[in-house]
Amino acid sequence: MARDDFSKPIIRELRERVASHCSNPDCRRKTAGPKSGGRGTIVLGEAAHIHAAAQGGPRYDAEMSPAERASIDNAIWLCRGCARRVDRDEAAYPATLLRQWKTRAEDLASDELDTRPPAHGDAQEELVGALSGHTKRLLPSLIKNAHAASVETLERLDPRFHIESSHQGGVTRFRIEALETVPFRLSVPEERMAEWKRGVDAALQAGTPFEIDAAGFAVRGSTLLTEA
Ligand SMILES: [Zn+2]
Repeated sequence: MARDDFSKPIIRELRERVASHCSNPDCRRKTAGPKSGGRGTIVLGEAAHIHAAAQGGPRYDAEMSPAERASIDNAIWLCRGCARRVDRDEAAYPATLLRQWKTRAEDLASDELDTRPPAHGDAQEELVGALSGHTKRLLPSLIKNAHAASVETLERLDPRFHIESSHQGGVTRFRIEALETVPFRLSVPEERMAEWKRGVDAALQAGTPFEIDAAGFAVRGSTLLTEA
């Protein structure tokens, strides 16, 4: 079956017009970055068809010419996940919606050209502003966002872990669960060795859980364990 695919220059132009962000406004994932080793790029997005490239595909429009189907006007840049989603649930993602996404994504990319990217301290400053009463209205969503953001950041550090955060009584707790066996090495400082051994022995012999102040301890094996 004939497929009206996009040319390489079109694909590149499409991606650069949204600064490599996924065009889904709820996603906006960055889809391109450097390959390790100082050379090459990794691209995790694709030029998706607004109207399918071939008959029978999602949102196929028989009225269009092959040239129209293969033109940049019929393309939207999406991350892989979003590209699958919009093609598998055609009814939820009509062409009109995809065009809105595309326009909005290009507008955002254009705005961002003249804007300083957010720095590490920005979220914190906003949160402090909210906590000190400047933007009370936003407080619940800010706290929720801060949680989501920290969980996401931590999970990105090491995807072998699943993380949940909760905030209660002024204390934020993170629950870190390994999704697979993660080998790690724990260094216990000399002077804490006896204390550590007592706890471990009790845990092994009687199954009693123990808590220990981890000051001076070092864990190696995951960026999460060292940076969190
Ligand atoms: Zn996406």
